[in-house]
Amino acid sequence: MSGPAPSKVFVITGPSGVGKGSLISLLRHRIPELELSTSATTREPRPGEQQGVDYHFLGEQEFLDRVDAGEFLEHAAYSGNHYGTLRSEVDRRIESGSPVVLEIEVQGARQIAQSMPEAVQIFIAPPALESLKERLEGRGTDSPEAIARRLEVAEEELEARDEFHHQVVNDELERALGELEGIVRSKLSESG
Ligand code: ADP
Ligand code: 5GP
Repeated sequence: MSGPAPSKVFVITGPSGVGKGSLISLLRHRIPELELSTSATTREPRPGEQQGVDYHFLGEQEFLDRVDAGEFLEHAAYSGNHYGTLRSEVDRRIESGSPVVLEIEVQGARQIAQSMPEAVQIFIAPPALESLKERLEGRGTDSPEAIARRLEVAEEELEARDEFHHQVVNDELERALGELEGIVRSKLSESG
């Protein structure tokens, strides 16, 4: 029996501020067929973030009710908020044959590694721990307290890097993008 090759799922993980969002946005310009799953979160929207585009922003009770209803493929508590991938976000893309990218933190990436071992896991690492602080401060979206919380978690997250199939060090954006693109294109060209 041969049907269309199943859609590929790419999990991009790594600490906050490492450049996951920047790399994914550039990657999607180079490979427009890649679709990004819109996550759900209980965190407050940042200025300019749009409901249903950047995230599905949910109240805590709604998030927990939807966890209980089995609507999440994975979910995690991170830095005082809940984040998760809705099954509906991934399933409809797989059904339409599109490759899907999940941009998620490490606990969620581990859950996907268990439930979807065929998903391609890519850990984005910083050239040094200090660069995360500089990048988070430079991004200017988080309070000093929020940055401190994210950096505490980052140390643990970095220890998990060897658990994942691929590691890309985001030292210089163009170089890291090229490496990431190479991994993704090579998987997309594999059949099955
Ligand atoms: P994440 O999505 O992992 O939290 P972002 O993509 O928001 O990280 O990047 C955090 C900040 O670091 C942004 O201001 C971004 O412009 C900057 N940045 C991303 N990649 C690099 C890089 N290779 N060198 C320097 N700054 C970077
Ligand atoms: P931020 O608040 O900066 O948007 O995201 C904080 C962290 O949550 C980032 O590491 C981001 O990758 C992660 N994240 C975003 N969406 C999800 C999700 O659906 N599931 C999980 N587990 N983490 C997510």
